[in-house]
Amino acid sequence: MKESVMGKPHVLVIPFPTQGHVMPLMELSHSLIDCGFVVTFVNTDFNHRRIVESIRQNDCQDRRIRLVSIPDGMAPGDDRNDLAKLCDTMLSVMPCLLEELILKINHDSNDDDKITFVIADQSIGWALEVAEKMGIRRAAFWPAAGCLLALLFHIPKLIESGIISANGIPIENQMIKLSPEMPAMNTAHFVWLCIGDPATQLSIYNTILRNNKAVKHADYLLCNSFYELEPSVLTLVPNLKPLGPLLGSSRFAHLWPQDSTCLSWLDQQPPRSVIYIAFGSLTILDKRQFDELALGLELSGHRFLWVIRPDLTNGLATGYPDGFEARVADRGMMICWAPQKEVLAHPSVTCFLTHCGWNSTMEGLSMGVPFLCWPYFADQFLNKSYICDIWKVGLGFNPDENGIISKEEINKKVKQIVGDEEIRVRALKLKETAMNSVSEGGSSLKNFEDFVEAMKC
Ligand code: UDP
Repeated sequence: MKESVMGKPHVLVIPFPTQGHVMPLMELSHSLIDCGFVVTFVNTDFNHRRIVESIRQNDCQDRRIRLVSIPDGMAPGDDRNDLAKLCDTMLSVMPCLLEELILKINHDSNDDDKITFVIADQSIGWALEVAEKMGIRRAAFWPAAGCLLALLFHIPKLIESGIISANGIPIENQMIKLSPEMPAMNTAHFVWLCIGDPATQLSIYNTILRNNKAVKHADYLLCNSFYELEPSVLTLVPNLKPLGPLLGSSRFAHLWPQDSTCLSWLDQQPPRSVIYIAFGSLTILDKRQFDELALGLELSGHRFLWVIRPDLTNGLATGYPDGFEARVADRGMMICWAPQKEVLAHPSVTCFLTHCGWNSTMEGLSMGVPFLCWPYFADQFLNKSYICDIWKVGLGFNPDENGIISKEEINKKVKQIVGDEEIRVRALKLKETAMNSVSEGGSSLKNFEDFVEAMKC
């Protein structure tokens, strides 16, 4: 065994550059640091600047992790929420830059400080290819539901059985289930069909196929889920190692500074009285829907904490409905970005109105908070089905004939979820299961410990 490996093994971690991917890999990185690893965390230059600024504003410098960055190939003013374009530009510049970065780190390091392992997001298979080319052992990390990964690995069978064409287009719209314990999936909502025009969708589909290939050569395949949450996934993807829920040191991964004043505000609210509303980092609400949500929260008469990102309405229209702020001033708080995990863990929170991003889903269920589900795109419909149909810890909304979720519907579902004792009991039970999985003898902790041991060999 080499001396470096017996000392402090050096791991390079690289996420796909969006908030929901940076966050869980940062959590995993901190767990590895706690186990004695050195971690170099590679962001894009664009995200690096934002994270460093958030760390500065939140005064939470962490010197244990090495934050480095490389360009993503986009011009300064380009829209990085255009994920298909981002994937293309990244692919055109980042593989070379990553290789150069690893060579430079290793050149500048002592023998016992060189990078011995790469953990790369499954969504950037090219990073796994770089590690393979350089002869470095590697793990792919999947930050969404295991069930979704099973679907992506299942693409050849979907084609074979005539469910989709070779280009990923459903032959007809239908509901399919990969196994009885998994949510039914609408073929029209397959994740590669949820963004942009047909050309964009095809480009995303091809990226998925490429990533599937890269992952086949990875030494490990990890995900932010836990066995008890999706037991049948392991039948479909036997080499998948769930390590979740990954919760913890997220203060170092935020693209927006967190407004922690909401925690003292929550301290002043009665137990289980506040609805927490947040739509993650990418979802855009149109102005009409935004207004309807504001009025629905007002109508409910409940206390609420609402995260309104600066770009939540895409800057197209700003402002609340007339007089809204004054009318809810004594019971509502609106902020730009929350310390979400702390908020969800707060005893004053009664339910989580969410877009059903996978991290938000894992965080909400780990805190035992019932969900109100408002999915928008990508994997959010699938996650909603898990929440409402399989785990039965939340409720969905029914849009009206114009596709709008009305204030009356919001009021109705808020009242329903707050009064539903059965959902609350199930949510608390699920929390217990989640916490057990990362406790002594738990399934995720066991996977993590095995992974750590394997990395040291
Ligand atoms: N988040 C946060 N503060 C907020 C809103 C979101 O810290 O005000 C975090 C949240 O805890 C989660 C991540 O941002 O870890 C969003 O990831 P998710 O998968 O839920 O959604 P996405 O942004 O990918 O759509």
